[in-house]
Amino acid sequence: MPLVTTKELLLDAQRCGYAVGAFNVENMEMVQAVVAAAQELNSPVIMQTTPSTVKYADLAYFYANVKTAADKASVPVVMHLDHGNSFDLAMQALRAGYTSIMIDGSHDGYEENIAVSKAVVRACHPSGVPVEAELGKVGGKEDDLDGGEGNPYTDPLEAKEFVERTGVDSLAVAIGTAHGIYSGTPKLDVERLSEIRKVVSIPLVLHGTSGVPDEAVQECIRRGICKVNYATDLRIAFSRGVKAVLEKNPDIIDPKKYNAQGREEVRQYVMSKIKVCGSEGKARTLEHI
Ligand SMILES: [Zn+2]
Repeated sequence: MPLVTTKELLLDAQRCGYAVGAFNVENMEMVQAVVAAAQELNSPVIMQTTPSTVKYADLAYFYANVKTAADKASVPVVMHLDHGNSFDLAMQALRAGYTSIMIDGSHDGYEENIAVSKAVVRACHPSGVPVEAELGKVGGKEDDLDGGEGNPYTDPLEAKEFVERTGVDSLAVAIGTAHGIYSGTPKLDVERLSEIRKVVSIPLVLHGTSGVPDEAVQECIRRGICKVNYATDLRIAFSRGVKAVLEKNPDIIDPKKYNAQGREEVRQYVMSKIKVCGSEGKARTLEHI
């Protein structure tokens, strides 16, 4: 089916108390793996690329890849810009055909974040493309951006005002997760999440989920998270598959031989996370979109 937007997907997730997994893809094999996993579990799915990924190739390459996979699939597939770091990049993604856009102004001041998020909303909504923004700072290192020290969590009342003033469709919140690899088990401020949920009606998004225990993710979903982002663990899974083949057969020169194993590792990983998110079988209820 043609690519869909995150709008209906996340609203259905919010209504029915599950989340849609959003998986960062870096190459064709990862795209194929994510769609195969979603297809097998009859789940909606979001694929996303960061600024550094689209710098490596470009938006058109990734769009074509994901669109091709979506066209062949019978489940709803979204192409999302993850951590769009400028108004310009957001517009390039919109023009390239991305069906969901994140503008991340969380590294700037509060008013600057509002201004850029609002501008992206104004540009995207006429085309029916929903916008995700971020308030507060998710820790660790996402892409080339450093979450920095201190990692201020999202303030519920600020979140309420931010959503009202920007008109964004979903909001990434900072409650203690971090991008990259955790050194210990992260401690999440789930009470804060519930406080945000009480005053913000749009779907909430959890970033930096690789390495967060599944039970903690599910607790967050119960408290209002509708989109869960996984990036680091997909890289780990893909690389593990490739390495396993090359370590066993160092003379292999056909990329298909080792990439296939990377793809299989990612497929299995994504299937397990779709189950954690509770979106298994949910493609059925979204048939009308
Ligand atoms: Zn993120």
